[in-house]
Amino acid sequence: MVDISGASPLRTVATSDLFQILRDGTPRTRAELAAITGLARSTVALRVDALMRLGLVSPTADAASTGGRPSSQFALDARGKVVLGVDIGASHIHLAVSDLTGRILAEDSTPMAVSSGPDAVLDWVAIAGAALVDGAVRSPSDLLAVGVGLPGPVEHSTGRPINPPIMPGWDRFDVPAALTSRFGVPVLVDNDVNIMALGERELAWPDVEHLIFVKVATGIGAGVISGGFLQRGAQGIAGDIGHVQISRGRDVLCRCGNHGCLEALASGRALAQALRDTGLDADGAQAVIDLVKRGNLEAIQAVRQAGRDLGEVLTTCVSLMNPSVIVIGGSMAQAGEHLIAGVREVIYTRSTPLATQHLHITHSSVGPQAAVVGAAMLAIHFALSPERVDAMVTAG
Ligand SMILES: [Zn+2]
Repeated sequence: MVDISGASPLRTVATSDLFQILRDGTPRTRAELAAITGLARSTVALRVDALMRLGLVSPTADAASTGGRPSSQFALDARGKVVLGVDIGASHIHLAVSDLTGRILAEDSTPMAVSSGPDAVLDWVAIAGAALVDGAVRSPSDLLAVGVGLPGPVEHSTGRPINPPIMPGWDRFDVPAALTSRFGVPVLVDNDVNIMALGERELAWPDVEHLIFVKVATGIGAGVISGGFLQRGAQGIAGDIGHVQISRGRDVLCRCGNHGCLEALASGRALAQALRDTGLDADGAQAVIDLVKRGNLEAIQAVRQAGRDLGEVLTTCVSLMNPSVIVIGGSMAQAGEHLIAGVREVIYTRSTPLATQHLHITHSSVGPQAAVVGAAMLAIHFALSPERVDAMVTAG
């Protein structure tokens, strides 16, 4: 959760500031809120009432209060409103309605190729999403926002995919407008790796402020959380490490047109190609994982080398970002310890001792669920931001 409770005392304390304090779920009395904010008790009472009318805050069961007295403590009403998280992958769609803490209340999924195009994919999302929300809420107005992850680069300012390699028909498609017209609420869009980073952080590392999530699958990309916030960079492509050149294989041509890219040597697709070149039957990333699990030595060596390649690029990231956690996720993470052993081997050898002293390099513990939870978190962070809460209070 974003903590902005240390708001500037020079600024007027708004209703949204009161809400940001209550958002951590800790029950507080009006007197405590008055002491934290410096507001008069009467002003606190009015603002708590406004937040209760919006369904964002509710009285809590007060252990000290018995005999039918109304509770004097208030906290975030996690079930008062919901968001919809949408994870659109290369060949699947996963939907989840979550409460305001990111806990999943209902979910649905279908196999569908993103290459079916935006009309078919978003039409399914709109119909199945509306049905899912209907079943989970008291009224359609309980839906606050929708978060969407796409398997390609997304321009952060517009939510539009830009030249996505595996998404024919999606280039610059206005995904937020298409879904806002169906759901009637704000729609946030980001790339799949960023939402996986948000989901992994939320579910597995909630107190960690500096985390890099690396997705190793058909392609390779990273989501970067620094200072507690997802870092998207100027255009939304921060963490796009797949086309950084690595020292091995300068002659290997990448699909981007350059030579020696990380993705051209260490992705699931590249490993499958390399193993096919040695005469093994490996038609894709899953086949590589299966070979590793069966103990095939060539496959194990190839995956370990891919880990070293990844470690070479991540060593630079460690120097630049000083993360405390690096999570390796994506389908190739299923290759077990071999990939991560290669990553560790290089990072621990090449980084300064201070940078690696408390650095965890580990597998995703959340797995495929991370993406849809992260999409929900994207919606929650937006919907509960001070600006949105103030707008709701004004409108409401
Ligand atoms: Zn490349």
